[in-house]
Parts: sequence; C-alpha cells; structure tokens
Amino acid sequence: MKLVAATGNAHKLKEIKAILKDTELVSMREIGFEGEIEETGETFLENALIKARAVCKATNLPALADDSGLCVDALGGAPGVYSARYSGGGDRENRKLLLKNLEGKEDRRAHFCCAVALVFPNGKELVAEGKTYGEILYEERGTNGFGYDPLFFSDDLHKTFAEATDEEKNVVSHRSRALFELRKLL
Ligand code: IMP
Repeated sequence: MKLVAATGNAHKLKEIKAILKDTELVSMREIGFEGEIEETGETFLENALIKARAVCKATNLPALADDSGLCVDALGGAPGVYSARYSGGGDRENRKLLLKNLEGKEDRRAHFCCAVALVFPNGKELVAEGKTYGEILYEERGTNGFGYDPLFFSDDLHKTFAEATDEEKNVVSHRSRALFELRKLL
C-alpha cells in the first residue's frame, strides 16, 4: 500500500519509515503538497485527524499523520499538544523552558504520547494511540533524536532517548506503539 506521510518533520518521517518497513511511504513534500496545516485541535487525536484529512483530500491518496508531544505530570500535562510551540523557539529553547518550569519540582514523571490517523480517499478513518513513560532529568544527556529526547529518561531503556540508538528508541517509543496498534487495525 502506498501512503503519504502528513508530516514535514524529517526526524518523525525517518522513525515512521523505520517502523513501517513493509509500507511504501512518501512524504507530503515529495509528492508536492506545500500547504501549511494549522493544528487547531485540543487533543493529539484531533490534530492527527486534521493533518491526515487535509493531506488525503489534497493528494487523493491514503494519508498517515502523527501528532505527538510530551506530557509532564508536575505541569498538569504541559506542554502536551503545544510541545512543538512551547517556547516560541526551536527544540533547544523548548528544552530550556521545560527545565526552567520544572525548577524546584521533585516530581519529574512524564510521558510521551502519540496519536496516529490513517485517512483513506473513500472516507474510512483509522486511529490509534501509544505512550511511553519516563522522567525529566535536570540536564541534557545524549545527542541522538530530536525534541525533548535529551531530557527524557526512559523507564524502558534506563537511558535518555537521545542516548539510545534509533533502533532502541523505535522498540519502545510512543510513535512505534501507536503505529503497532494501527497496524493491527489494518
Ligand atoms: P507535532 O509536530 O505537533 O506532533 O509536535 C510534536 C512535538 O513534540 C515535537 O516537536 C517535539 O517537541 C515533541 N516530540 C514528539 N515526539 C517526540 C520524540 O519522539 N522525541 C522528542 N520529542 C518529541
């Protein structure tokens, strides 16, 4: 099956391609979708559906979208759906703000959440979610991955996602868990 990945994030695309090895996946940019999709949803699932529906409509191909983020217990689930836009800057500034907002807080529990949506031109829609748990460190460790990876100490891996190899992260990540669930529905 040929799917269009409704993401412009190269890191996410690489992870999705590695997890869905047996699927022909092209990025929305590769097939000429240049539009910007506004993520106006209040949940990961709503945003994943907004992106997948928009790309499916524009390309007339089945479209797969992921919406994901980091939810920190001591911050009431923030940054959540605002993870990418948390500081108004890039990944580095987002991590800096996260550490600042957690100053003096002993509860460092957090999880990544990922919702995936697959929308077909005939209107059929499949959705799934995945989570992965861990703690936010006091300083960054590791250089792999992206986003909050250097601060996220994984319960499963006993190291940060930025210290893990791509293969290690892909076994336990929120994204792989969501895609695994989605595959069961296909
Ligand atoms: P989205 O493009 O709206 O789904 O934004 C997701 C944001 O959540 C990213 O920009 C990262 O800040 C964060 N995020 C999601 N998944 C991961 C991950 O696997 N590692 C680190 N950060 C992530």
